[in-house]
Amino acid sequence: MKNRKLLMIPGPVEFTPDVLQAMGSPTTSHVAQIFIDAFGEALANLRKVFLAPSGQPFIVAGSGTLAMDMVAANLIEPNDSVLVVNTGYFSDRFAKIFERYGAHVTHLHGKSPGDAPTLEEVESALKSVRPAFLSITHVDTSTGVSVDVKSLAALGRQYDTFVLVDGVCSLAGEEVRQEEWGIDAVLTASQKAIGVPPGLALAVAGPRAMQKFKNRATPVGNFYADWNEWLPIMEAYEARKPSYFGTPAVNLVWALRVSLQEILGEGMEPRFARHRRLSRAFRAGIDALGLKQVPTRAELTATTLSAIYYPEGVDATLLKAIDEEGVLVAGGLHPAIKTKYFRVGHMGSVSASDIMATLAAIESGLARCGYKSEPGIAVAAAQKSLSIEETR
Ligand code: PMP
Repeated sequence: MKNRKLLMIPGPVEFTPDVLQAMGSPTTSHVAQIFIDAFGEALANLRKVFLAPSGQPFIVAGSGTLAMDMVAANLIEPNDSVLVVNTGYFSDRFAKIFERYGAHVTHLHGKSPGDAPTLEEVESALKSVRPAFLSITHVDTSTGVSVDVKSLAALGRQYDTFVLVDGVCSLAGEEVRQEEWGIDAVLTASQKAIGVPPGLALAVAGPRAMQKFKNRATPVGNFYADWNEWLPIMEAYEARKPSYFGTPAVNLVWALRVSLQEILGEGMEPRFARHRRLSRAFRAGIDALGLKQVPTRAELTATTLSAIYYPEGVDATLLKAIDEEGVLVAGGLHPAIKTKYFRVGHMGSVSASDIMATLAAIESGLARCGYKSEPGIAVAAAQKSLSIEETR
């Protein structure tokens, strides 16, 4: 019997066989030419995946939180002001990091968990606060809320801010266009839609951000994250030359090289479209089961994950019931509603059959918890959604 479960949490996600095989390739020296070539290729391809033709990519061993720390440490200076468009737990985290580097943070929340401030509210806060930075969590993994980064970044630019985007739960799944949208720095981690096991912090800084970094009046207050150390390393790898600051995660870089090739092989537009199509099908299934989602408005729902309230009479025991059906999903994370909802990741190499298997497991899990629904209703709704789109 196959005893491997389908991993449908919002990261780490399922990885492709070629990525996992690359992880298992022999570890070379970090100055071996074969590794330098792989790192150089990964940097160049990262620019393409981030749609950041003039950006400076950074690939550093660490999790997404390090990528946040790195962006903040290198761009924020004491007494800078930051306006945080706050959509949940990870917006709070970025704010705490900014404060650690001496920034004054103003939070702008939606009305309740699952909501987001409107563009009008953000504009009026920009007018009154006049911040140096606008911080945006593209998809807050705690609420499944996705904000309109394109319009927010345009507003941020209009009010002369540097625009920082946490794209950990969006990049390479949900549409992000660093250069075209005027984002100054955007970051992610390897374990989500980028499709590589946990352990790589990835960031791209645009030319304005790099200039801001170079013009700093104060030293970078973090040793490991300091771009003064990492920039020459990234430049050396792209020039196919050996270099050293901290030992790179050699096997993760093998895997990243393969994953970025796979992502570019699919194409960014088809990849964004696949995430849209599969998330619509998943949501059709969830709606058919009569479950309510955490995002308060349809336009706020992410394509990379869904956050779903337990129905009346059901609690977190549902997670175990779904697990027993062979699928792993995640519990709640936002402190205000933590025990009331669960989360399902559908990003990266996710396929229509993963969506069907997950919906079937949720439906059976709900039935075990005493929730009544017509057998097969979720899968049927998802199938219908997919077939409608196919005939469009
Ligand atoms: N930001 C967002 C939106 C995230 O989803 C996460 C991880 N779930 C992080 C930041 C932090 O990443 P990591 O757990 O890899 O440190």
